Parts: sequence; C-alpha cells; structure tokens
Amino acid sequence: MARVRFAPSPTGYLHIGSARTALFNWVYARSSGGKFLLRIEDTDIARSEERFLEEIVTDLKWLGINWDEPPLRQSKRFDVYRSSAESLVKSGKAYREGDAYIFKMPEGRTIEIDDMIHGKVSFNTNDIKDQVMIKSDGSPAYNFCCVVDDAHLGITHIIRGDDHLSNTPKQILFYEALGLPVPKFGHMPLIMGADGAKLSKRHGGVSVEEYKAEGYLPEALVNYLLLLGWSPGGDREIITLDEAVKIFDIKNMTGVQAKFDLQKLRWINGEYLARKSGKDLLPMVKKIMADSGNTNLASDEVLIRLIDLYKIRIKTLAEFITATDHFFGDVYSIDEKGVEKHLKSAENKSILNHFAGLLEHMDDFSHAKLEEACRTMAEDKGLKAGQIIHPTRVAISGKTTGAGLFEMMEILGKPKVIERMRRAGS
Ligand code: GLU
Repeated sequence: MARVRFAPSPTGYLHIGSARTALFNWVYARSSGGKFLLRIEDTDIARSEERFLEEIVTDLKWLGINWDEPPLRQSKRFDVYRSSAESLVKSGKAYREGDAYIFKMPEGRTIEIDDMIHGKVSFNTNDIKDQVMIKSDGSPAYNFCCVVDDAHLGITHIIRGDDHLSNTPKQILFYEALGLPVPKFGHMPLIMGADGAKLSKRHGGVSVEEYKAEGYLPEALVNYLLLLGWSPGGDREIITLDEAVKIFDIKNMTGVQAKFDLQKLRWINGEYLARKSGKDLLPMVKKIMADSGNTNLASDEVLIRLIDLYKIRIKTLAEFITATDHFFGDVYSIDEKGVEKHLKSAENKSILNHFAGLLEHMDDFSHAKLEEACRTMAEDKGLKAGQIIHPTRVAISGKTTGAGLFEMMEILGKPKVIERMRRAGS
C-alpha cells in the first residue's frame, strides 16, 4: 500500500507550490487506496512558528486535503536522529567534528534515480561533499532527518518539487547506509511566473492565503493547481478533486516547466463561481466584505440576490465588492469616462428627469414593471431603449457595466434610484 506525505516547514505561509505538492501526494494516496500523512519539519526552532503551522493546517483543510494519521513533529524527535547518526559513526560511515555528526561521502559512485516524472537522472558522488547529519547545535540537517522519518513512517513514494532533486542522491545514500528501503521519487518542475521568473506577488500572489483573500474558491485553486503538472486528458480543464482521484495516473504528470497563468486561474474561478448558488457563496462574500472593512452590509436576502445577479460577471469574490459598491451606500467608484459620455448632455439630463418623473408614480417597483415603463417611454418619445438605459445605469451605479439595469433598480429601491437620477439630471 502506498504511503505518501507532505512535509511543510512552518517557517512561513503555505506557498502555492507547496499546496500543489500536498495536493498531488494526496491525490496519489486517494487514487491508489494508500495513506496520506503530514509531517511538520520544525527543526529550525528559531524560525518555526505556531501561527504558521496553524495557518498551513487551516489552508490544507480549506483546499480539501485531510491526513490519515496524527502529524509527526520533527522537533520532538531530536534523540531519534542523534541515535541514528551515532549508529553511522559506529559503523564507520560517518565521523564527528566537535558536536556535529558528518556523513562520509563515498567516492566515485554513480547514484541513479528512476524518477517517476523525469525518468532516469544520475549523480556522481564525487560532486557531493560530506554531509552534516546533526549540526553542532544539536539540530538535525534536513536531508538526514527527512530520511530517518520517511523510513520510520514507511513512506513508499515521495512527490516533491524539483528544488529537492539534488537532495535525492544524498538521501538515497542515507537509506543505504542505514540499511533502509529506498522509496520511489517524483520531482515536479517548480511553478514559475508567466515571464519565466520566480513566482512572486506581481504574478498574482505566492501564498494560498493571498488567493483566499481575493475570493478564489478552494475548488478553483485546486483545479488550477492540478493542471500545473498533470493533464486529465484531452482538452479538459475543469476537474474537481473527486474526479481527479478517479482518473489520476502519475504517468500523466509532466516534467515540463509549469507556468503560472493568472488569467486561466481567474477563468476557472469564474466557472466555479457561476455554478454556485448565491446562498452557497454568501458566507465567503460576507467574510471578504468584513475583511475589506465594509460594515454597511445589506441583509442576507439582498446579498444573496446580488450574488446571484453578479456571480456570472465576476472572476473573484473581491471583484464582487467593487462591482456592487453602489448598493452599499453613497460612496462608490465612478467611471468618469462613462459620466462624460452619458450624463453630460442636456438631452440625457432631460431623459433622466423624464424617466425619474415616471418612476415617481410607480408603486410596483419590480424589474418587470420598470422595464415596461422604460419601453413605453422609449416608444412615446421616439427613443431607443438604450438612450434611457445607459444614462440611468451610470446615474444609479457610477458604472457603464453591471447586472441587468432593471434588476439593479429593483434591488436598489425606489427612493435611492430616483434620488441618484435627479442628482445626475440636475
Ligand atoms: N520541508 C521540506 C520543504 O518544505 C520538505 C521537502 C520534502 O518533501 O522532502 O521543502
């Protein structure tokens, strides 16, 4: 049975690349009936922080990743690493330099890795220097405690980023020296920005938290990360975690460099948003609104109506806030070009005032009645409906785009609509 693990260091937030690593290990375990484990690599006591660990755990759960056994914490196992290192000194494979334990690199050996993603990769031990196993401060070096723990946990497959490829021959030598079975390795190309540079904030963000805060749905982020290293076959681009588990085959993972394409992620997020109901999205929208300091919340009922109206027009939930700001008070973004085009002429002002006059007499402010009133006025005055609709839209929302005008008017309500139209028409 396959046993895989994700081994984050809690020295920072969950990087998007690490989230992808976790995801592929998880999918591998779930698709093969194996186990997925979490190991906390908190050997760097000074840099490891509990708040980072909590956030990593929260983010993994948010993505839908769960683990099958209690997480192992490396900071609790320093004695185990030391006694393993001790055994290698006893068998003559390692030596001590003061308090440090150092592994003697064998000379002239070729270490071949049959990588599950890249195929065969070879290293010569002459290019690798002696390896510290335990540092003089008593803390273990990554390559060594990683091997001790992977063996202890019975890990059979290790899927991780290419940044660890050069560590793998060192780790294989530790397995051999300790007389432990060597797991299979698969290294994924690192995620780069679209311009080929290291992924950074300007490419859209590096941590899962940043995407969460922008209002990306976990399903969409998961879907996108799955495509960054694996192909579900054909041109398929929308795939859920459950479906991926059903059809995943590590053979379809690619060794080709993964480029982060924010536009594609946005498109995928838009697809998932459109499929959700306003009710489903309500808690996330409320959280994002509260986080962005928007205290002027409408009732849940109104919010749900707005989400249902706008979810097909936005790519992130953060965009919902800007797209709908005119529903939440009188301070909202104004498209100045739109104002220039639709609200400046005397003719448009008079159209607005005439329409506002008609609306003042309406008791039923439903979108159907509003539309009827607009069409009737257009006919009476020999106007095209657009000549009424465009100025009215800019007058009540400050924008030239948005949801259907009459739905917007209905939700905004008669007093606000008329007040804004009169102001724009004056
Ligand atoms: N803590 C290491 C990292 O986050 C784990 C590497 C590994 O999977 O072996 O890069």
